[in-house]
Amino acid sequence: MSAFAFAPQPRRTTVGVSVGGVTVGGGAPVVVQSMTNTDTADIDATVAQVAALHKAGSELVRITVDRDESAAAVPKIRERLERLGLDVPLIGDFHYIGHKLLADHPACAEALAKYRINPGNVGFKDKKDKQFAAIIERAIAFDKPVRIGVNWGSLDQELLTRLMDDNQAKGFPLTAEEVMRETIVQSALISAELAEEIGLPRNRIILSAKVSNVQDLIACYAMLSARSNHALHLGLTEAGMGTKGIVASSASLGILLQQGIGDTIRISLTPEPGGDRTREVQVAQELLQVMGFRQFLPVVAACPGCGRTTSTVFQELAQKIQEDIRRNMPVWRAKYPGVEGLKVAVMGCIVNGPGESKHADIGISLPGTGELPAAPVYIDGKKAMTLRGTNIAGDFETLVGDYIEKRFGNGQAAAE
Ligand code: SF4
Repeated sequence: MSAFAFAPQPRRTTVGVSVGGVTVGGGAPVVVQSMTNTDTADIDATVAQVAALHKAGSELVRITVDRDESAAAVPKIRERLERLGLDVPLIGDFHYIGHKLLADHPACAEALAKYRINPGNVGFKDKKDKQFAAIIERAIAFDKPVRIGVNWGSLDQELLTRLMDDNQAKGFPLTAEEVMRETIVQSALISAELAEEIGLPRNRIILSAKVSNVQDLIACYAMLSARSNHALHLGLTEAGMGTKGIVASSASLGILLQQGIGDTIRISLTPEPGGDRTREVQVAQELLQVMGFRQFLPVVAACPGCGRTTSTVFQELAQKIQEDIRRNMPVWRAKYPGVEGLKVAVMGCIVNGPGESKHADIGISLPGTGELPAAPVYIDGKKAMTLRGTNIAGDFETLVGDYIEKRFGNGQAAAE
């Protein structure tokens, strides 16, 4: 058995692709992206959601372009975003009639920073190659990159049947699952080869191979990565709702990223009814941050609590600080360079409180059950003071604000 690898594997070398100025692959940091769930023809709703996703940290945002009305709305959405000062690149998601929409709506073709197409539904039988070529030619004409996004829910049935027949003729050396994985990978690679033959250079092509099963996803991307140097977009499709979607996406994408695979990620969460679409951006950022690949936000370390704490003070304080940080980050990013590296600890009692707080930049150890109503605060590893009274939480929040101003304000961090 090979030795357990403790460190992330070096990033696979892929060809970098510029998507509206954001580089995907080629050694660039892993890019976070998301997708709207508004009707793109509803310009107000789509602008609002793109803005919310971008402000939450989405570096690219994909929108559905499914009919004439939505294609006609795209340049207006682009214009409105620019008026708001939001230069987030927009990606158009095309199915079935992408060739037609891109031909009939040149302003849409121009306003988008990338086209996403699915080789399983770009066209059928003798129309398939023709319609695929028409989209690629539009991309070349408008100098746009394309994501060739295979999805097992709309897999190229002709290719699947051919590979199943080949497998049968050879006496079934592969299982049905293995043939399915091979079809997904081949569908992406054959389409990429065709796009290159038409004239789209490799530095304008991104590939993805999405499935909804964690082990299949890991296998497909490992195969794809071993057989090509195209930039890869990772995502578990139909990941589901709530904790299930978060766990399944994090498990599969985390393993691939640890192996050096993946240049951009999307966490495809199904929102709760009326839920917040930006959750998928938060999860993507947190996944990349906890794995040490990127830093987006200050970290708040909080203990889980146990029988030594009967009050919810420390839970409320940890939650409040986390929420304040997320809310303030768009301003802090510009005002306090380096603030995303801040570590705050909020601990429930004396057992691990002082130790964990000393490891943070600023930390507090709140009193547990039976402890004196006093909360020592540690700054840069040293005990700085003890808070007492009824406003410990508020006083600590003030201290965190003062610490950020002192350390990161006026270019202090840059000077360190
Ligand atoms: S620090 Fe204290 S309250 Fe928090 S989990 Fe540990 S023992 Fe429990």
